[in-house]
Amino acid sequence: MEEFHYEGDELYCEGVPLREIAESRGTPVYVYSHGTLERRYRELDEAFSGLDHMVCYAVKANGNLAVLRALAALGAGVDIVSAGELYRAVRAGIDPKRIVFAGVGKTEKELSLGLGERILMFNVESDSELERLDYCARRHGKTARVALRVNPAVDPESHPHIATGLAESKFGIPLDEALRLARRVREEFRHVELLGVHQHIGSQITKISPYVESVEKTAGLVRELRDSGFDIRYFNIGGGLGICYRDESPPNPRELVDALRPALESTGATILCEMGRYIAGEAGVLLTRVLYRKQSGEKTFLVADAGMNDLLRPSLYDAYHEVKPLRESTATVHADLVGPVCESGDYLARDRDLPDAAEGEVLAVMSAGAYGFAMASNYNSRPRPAEVMVRSDRWALVREREHYPDLVKGELIPAFL
Ligand SMILES: *Cc1c(COP(=O)(O)O)cnc(C)c1O
Repeated sequence: MEEFHYEGDELYCEGVPLREIAESRGTPVYVYSHGTLERRYRELDEAFSGLDHMVCYAVKANGNLAVLRALAALGAGVDIVSAGELYRAVRAGIDPKRIVFAGVGKTEKELSLGLGERILMFNVESDSELERLDYCARRHGKTARVALRVNPAVDPESHPHIATGLAESKFGIPLDEALRLARRVREEFRHVELLGVHQHIGSQITKISPYVESVEKTAGLVRELRDSGFDIRYFNIGGGLGICYRDESPPNPRELVDALRPALESTGATILCEMGRYIAGEAGVLLTRVLYRKQSGEKTFLVADAGMNDLLRPSLYDAYHEVKPLRESTATVHADLVGPVCESGDYLARDRDLPDAAEGEVLAVMSAGAYGFAMASNYNSRPRPAEVMVRSDRWALVREREHYPDLVKGELIPAFL
């Protein structure tokens, strides 16, 4: 059974009615299903069976300590893109030997912190970063393990903001420069050890073909580097596997990995993948209460207590999230579900047939577990929502709702005022 389901006419997460959580912790509140996290992680892990592999969860999708701890307990590694995420991962108990560090703009401090934790490897994106990393490693008396992040120049056919493997993208180094950079590592950078190749072409990928095309291209590079005497032991294929928000039909992990298998096997390397959305997306919902119903001419608005500061994806990417009532009903209203933020772009659902919710009723915005809370802000001085995790018939608060003093934490009024 799916973790989010109706029982009687009530919407449940696993064994817990969502109404109970909304009543106890208030709204807006994110609710995560431990069962979904576990199921999705295992589906990925099992899809790679027969290959030496490691599933690294992309922390940026949802970095809550409880989410990371749940995945750590299943044996997951993580992909981080900042030292802040390193801090979270270590705090949550992720084994540093299972941490890979990506990102085009790592600072010296971030490189040093990664070296200090002895993470598995840095995914390096430029000549200059290699020089900087070599310098940091020398200063710390260490050797930095690296993978070259290459850009296979393949269009993932997803949203332009989340495509990272196009030729004009800021990410990675062109495939045909990788050999030159590898030679520089061998000849110039004594404190860097090259042991991997990395790619990540984008997010919410729903077609197999761009994934296969990019992995085949990059696998060719892995073989070429091996033939040139480089001991490439890891091939990191990135994340990006899409989920179903509306009517997409993304491949499941098994289908994806089976399509990639010949290319992956041809490298003889340990395979890493870095899925974020696939693991966390369907594991979370955002509960929001309808404050007002408002009629403006022909338009109906459901004004909710969650806005773009709580869930940015609709405003940022025009993303679609399904909206469900906590009490099952087939009654719908053609409306916009909007938030309280002072921006016309502040909406959760636009021009849709939505549950015909009365004022005071709570709605569930589905598939909000990835890039939901992670992108939440205090815009309009709105405290960020609480987060809850459900495991079977138990549930617990995993992040307190922010309070007003949190909004001004660290702010100072200077003496000259
Ligand atoms: C964002 C990101 C991921 C995760 O992407 P998903 O679409 O959430 O799977 C993986 N690797 C890198 C380098 C990323 O930047």
